[in-house]
Amino acid sequence: MEQCFTFEKEQFPLFFEAMSEHGTVLAPVRVSEQSFAFRPVSSAGEIAFEALRTILPPKKLFYPQRETILGYEGRTIEERKPDVKPQVLFGVHPCDLAGLGVLDAIFSSDPADSHYLARRKATIVVGLSCMPDRYCFCNSVGTDSPEKGYDVFLTDIGGSYFARVNSPAGLQLLQSRPGLMQPASGDARQQYKDFWVNRDRAFQIGFKSGNLPAIVDMEWDNPIWEELGQRCLSCGNCTPVCPTCYCFDILDVASLTGDSGERVREWDSCQFSGFAQVAGGFNFRPGPVDRLRFWYRHKLHGFEDAYGFPTCVGCGRCTVSCPAGIDDIVGVVLRLQGGQDGQGGEER
Ligand code: SF4
Ligand code: SF4
Repeated sequence: MEQCFTFEKEQFPLFFEAMSEHGTVLAPVRVSEQSFAFRPVSSAGEIAFEALRTILPPKKLFYPQRETILGYEGRTIEERKPDVKPQVLFGVHPCDLAGLGVLDAIFSSDPADSHYLARRKATIVVGLSCMPDRYCFCNSVGTDSPEKGYDVFLTDIGGSYFARVNSPAGLQLLQSRPGLMQPASGDARQQYKDFWVNRDRAFQIGFKSGNLPAIVDMEWDNPIWEELGQRCLSCGNCTPVCPTCYCFDILDVASLTGDSGERVREWDSCQFSGFAQVAGGFNFRPGPVDRLRFWYRHKLHGFEDAYGFPTCVGCGRCTVSCPAGIDDIVGVVLRLQGGQDGQGGEER
């Protein structure tokens, strides 16, 4: 059974000291009036504890937007290993923990991605509880409860944090400041449970997901795809912001003389018009309707067969970042569940 502790919020600077001792601390910081981003921080005061969703999910810290994977000089080819240093990722909410879990499964599959895994191994993850806003629906896709993927998970129970420990590294972190942690009392455990019950009641949107695989396949020809595709700008915003999108392109960048260069991997998007274009110019998904339908299927059902889980973790980022107001996953699912007439399914 997990070990549980509490510590008072005013003692957080001590906890921050313990994290800093392990390595660089990365945490949500405010970058504009309405937006937050995971950045390196050097003091507890820089952390935006109120941050709900960051612009980009924490995947960017393990799977960078652009990285060199090999270089060549004449006939010599060298693999470029990532410069990995110990770090602590603080403030990861349940949906983003689940997103990392999806990427862990994908990047550990044969052939395993050594760059991603090296960064994951060097990172202590500290989760943090949150309350949903009008875009959150992690409770509809079963990612609302922090089960795994963290070393320590902190739940805000008022004047204190309730700390669940999930790894030896997490325990070491908590015990590195003697006297900081108290074993969780019965009252604290009750406050912890109350928090999660109240949080569950706070969701404003959602759907019942048990029937998703059957529904999504059944509704392949639903007119909704045409309707949404007509509005889609193919800007690709919805994919970099998604905690579980991981498509990339490989580019060879040669010097002007051609005798040296490097091979680069960078994020790509299945919503770009040329993503599914192959040699000879044929495009498997030529229009936004094809691409959008493919993406929704991928998020809601596509990974069930291979991995046993859907890849939408309910963070709401695609909804808030779509300039055309399209990526309302909840609205789309409710309409698909309602069938061809577009009437909504059953909300929860
Ligand atoms: S599909 Fe949208 S709501 Fe679902 S995990 Fe991706 S960004 Fe979040
Ligand atoms: S963010 Fe919206 S407009 Fe842009 S590609 Fe995605 S669905 Fe289309």
